[in-house]
Amino acid sequence: MFSKILIANRGEIACRVIKTARRLGIKTVAVYSDADRGARHVAMADEAVHIGPSPARESYLLADRIIDAARRTGAEAIHPGYGFLSENAGFAEACAKAGLVFIGPPPAAIRAMGSKSEAKKIMEKAKVPLVPGYHGDDQSPDLLAKEAARIGFPVLIKASAGGGGKGMRVVEAADKFADALAGAKREAKAAFADDHVLVEKYLTRPRHIEIQVFADGHGSCLYLFERDCSIQRRHQKVIEEAPAPDMDPARRKAMGEAAVAAAKAIGYEGAGTVEFIADQDGTFFFMEMNTRLQVEHPVTEAITGQDLVEWQLVVAAGGRMPLTQDQLRIFGHAVEVRLYAEDPARNFLPSTGTLVHLKLPQENQHVRVDTGVRQGDTVTPFYDPMIAKVIVHDRDRASAMRRMAVLMGETEVVGVATNAALLKALCSHPAFVGGEIDTGFIERHRDTLFPAPALADDRTFAIATLARLVEWQDREPTAGDPHSPWNQQNGFRLLDEGHDEVRWKDGDRDVTVIARRLRGGGLSLELPGGTQAARVQRTDDGRLAIDLGGETFVATAVRRIATDGGVDYTLFSDGRSRRLRLVDPFDLSMYEVAGAAEATVRAPLPGKIIDLRVKAGDTVSKGQPLLVLEAMKMEHTLAAPADGTIKSVRYAVGEQVPEGAELVEFEAS
Ligand code: ADP
Ligand code: ADP
Ligand code: MG
Repeated sequence: MFSKILIANRGEIACRVIKTARRLGIKTVAVYSDADRGARHVAMADEAVHIGPSPARESYLLADRIIDAARRTGAEAIHPGYGFLSENAGFAEACAKAGLVFIGPPPAAIRAMGSKSEAKKIMEKAKVPLVPGYHGDDQSPDLLAKEAARIGFPVLIKASAGGGGKGMRVVEAADKFADALAGAKREAKAAFADDHVLVEKYLTRPRHIEIQVFADGHGSCLYLFERDCSIQRRHQKVIEEAPAPDMDPARRKAMGEAAVAAAKAIGYEGAGTVEFIADQDGTFFFMEMNTRLQVEHPVTEAITGQDLVEWQLVVAAGGRMPLTQDQLRIFGHAVEVRLYAEDPARNFLPSTGTLVHLKLPQENQHVRVDTGVRQGDTVTPFYDPMIAKVIVHDRDRASAMRRMAVLMGETEVVGVATNAALLKALCSHPAFVGGEIDTGFIERHRDTLFPAPALADDRTFAIATLARLVEWQDREPTAGDPHSPWNQQNGFRLLDEGHDEVRWKDGDRDVTVIARRLRGGGLSLELPGGTQAARVQRTDDGRLAIDLGGETFVATAVRRIATDGGVDYTLFSDGRSRRLRLVDPFDLSMYEVAGAAEATVRAPLPGKIIDLRVKAGDTVSKGQPLLVLEAMKMEHTLAAPADGTIKSVRYAVGEQVPEGAELVEFEAS
């Protein structure tokens, strides 16, 4: 076995590999970019080497620099994680040349599966069933359009070099094909520097079922069962589970054997995943093979009781796999959710910022949390916006989903938008829990998964107001009873004995809560729905223990200065979160913010303008695309917020813009 390895990655996967290495007594070397100087993976590793500036192509994608770091630190092997250089055959070769073990498959196997088009050609020969489509070399738009018509709409255009759902476009009809092709090629070029595409039949209501395979250098190749990864957004996984619901043993065996045949056809070694797309009737077709460890590998680890990173290390060091096919068993059910810094309500737009407050679930025998961040860390636009993976293992699917829904309700993040509420809604959704599973689930159930924001309730206003009062008390802990929020000299209160007003904005609604001190201690709160008695105390861990009208509960309130300078309170209680804006009576500027925001279209993320559809003087209608911004390797189309006229366009195609930049000045009509 190795005595020291380098991890050519960052975030949760780097931390996860370090954990296994440590357990096996292997020393670890981390690499990091400028943005990751203080990152968790750097703190966890035994040693760390700085490899360059924040953009991945100047750090995590620089093979030479990483190999050099391994040489200098005396590491014998490199674990590539996933993403970055993990499926780069050239990197695997360069490692070998430098006398380092690449912990992954042989370069030839990576190359064989590196292009989805080439992979389909190989699988066709190995008689693995394929989705009907075109995966040839001729890339002329006319031919591709003709092929699409032959296959029959809807079709899916995919970047051959694709991954992470990038460079992929669904096309519903022939007249939309040319535009979609151009978009897919642009995105593919930006993300993979290769705009070769394939076209295939777009299945409606399919399931994504994949098989974990493993092979060693002694001729053994086996499958560690399946994972169902059908719950997706933008063709990217959000929830994964194992085993797949309703999988019968015969089909499991057929898919497992097809996957092993695929791996053997390319002389595979190490961990790999063969992805299939399955019809509701169970018919399955090969989609692609990922020649690396997968993000969702923990669900397989949970149900098999194995550590796949340990298996990778053993196999890479020339050992045999610890088990045979017959010895593998499935225990219970596991589910993983990907907690992302993104805004589901804004088409899952990635969200960047500092994690001013972060409370992830506690690990225990049922719960595992893989994360690369801590409270205070920043989600930057440079890398994938995943905050954590939460994995639950339980005796059956219903129990696992129930447990996960509770955990997501208890997860607290302030500083970036997250999909926690969506994950909770999914894991408690009767249809999903009942077994309705396909890749269109989120879109189809939008109404129930993304409920229109309801007005804040009295409880929310009470928590926020009590938080504010406790804060005042914390700030001036001088006079009198330290537990009463009423002992400081505050201008308001002098007007009326023991009376205070706190004003909140909930969307467009303005709500004033009046708080009065009661004789025997405690408070009375005048809330929109009526008056209630309340008591509050700060707990040892900084939360609020509240008694509201006789009901006691604990809540968390986090105060944060928003990017527009206003003060927001995020309140967590009862498995829900809610945000209120504090109205400061001395700050009049905030009353103009809403009107001003209307007049400009700002960059939601730092990025590059890649397409401008309007110029000064144009009249536009609400929702009309104005420009396309490329950020985090994805294209984001920004639309007119209302009907109106374009007053000015501030940037040109090709320009890099910072977050919040005023891109288009706009006058509503
Ligand atoms: P990536 O490299 O981005 O993972 P995949 O080829 O694995 O690309 O496809 C990603 C997702 O897109 C799949 O999980 C599935 O939801 C959807 N998808 C892919 N091919 C098809 C298809 N032919 N019909 C319907 N959905 C598809
Ligand atoms: P999976 O099928 O396991 O979701 P994907 O093909 O979607 O795998 O990609 C693997 C993961 O690698 C993605 O979820 C993404 O987070 C990460 N990834 C891919 N490319 C990059 C990159 N350039 N930088 C950071 N992370 C990346
Ligand atoms: Mg895939």
